[in-house]
Amino acid sequence: MQPFQREQLEILVKLQEIETESYNIKSMLSDVKAKLEKLDVGLKNFKETIEDEEDHLNELNRRDRTYESDVQLSLSKIKKSEEKLRSVKTNKEYQMSLKEIEDLKTINSQIEDQMLECLDQIEASENLVASKKKEYLRFSDQTNHEKEKIGIEITKGKKTLMRLDKERVVISKNLEPELLKKFQMIKEQQVTGIAVVPVKDAVCLGCNMNIPPQMYNELQRCDSLKLCPYCQRIIYWKEF
Ligand SMILES: [Zn+2]
Repeated sequence: MQPFQREQLEILVKLQEIETESYNIKSMLSDVKAKLEKLDVGLKNFKETIEDEEDHLNELNRRDRTYESDVQLSLSKIKKSEEKLRSVKTNKEYQMSLKEIEDLKTINSQIEDQMLECLDQIEASENLVASKKKEYLRFSDQTNHEKEKIGIEITKGKKTLMRLDKERVVISKNLEPELLKKFQMIKEQQVTGIAVVPVKDAVCLGCNMNIPPQMYNELQRCDSLKLCPYCQRIIYWKEF
């Protein structure tokens, strides 16, 4: 390895800036992609609640049609019984027919009550579907607007990443191959990809530990590569 040069450290710092920016953009991209998925799920769930209510409404309408035919049926039974009433011969038969008509009318009135209740439910369900649909339109407008904004952010992020990749290639060429290897090795060991950190007032800003005074003195001379004894990152002295 050639003697350490101050300019090599500057390249390392610059390379780290590129890595940090790339890392931030990548995590921003993964955040917004998760946000996009969440928006789609929200919209889909909303649509499903409308479909559920529409199923309920269809069921109520089916019930209403059944009541309607039941009413028709019982009305025709009543009519028949009333015709029969006119042709009865005995008082007993007459009483029986009257009773039969009374019973049929009671049943018919019960069906009509149920039908009325069903119509009330249909009306409420129709109102609910209409208001949900209106709300869905508002919600999907808002969602699409947010998706557009996210789309712009994603494109911008991708473009910046490409620019950073190019810069990384150019800058890496000026770095001693051994230093580059070391940088990449340390970077891969760190979850956040930070391999080069400044030291401020003898504190490593990578791990917030105090570095030994002797090392801190050497660090300020910038004439050798130093690693933090605690987090193993490349450290450099910086006046803040
Ligand atoms: Zn450290």
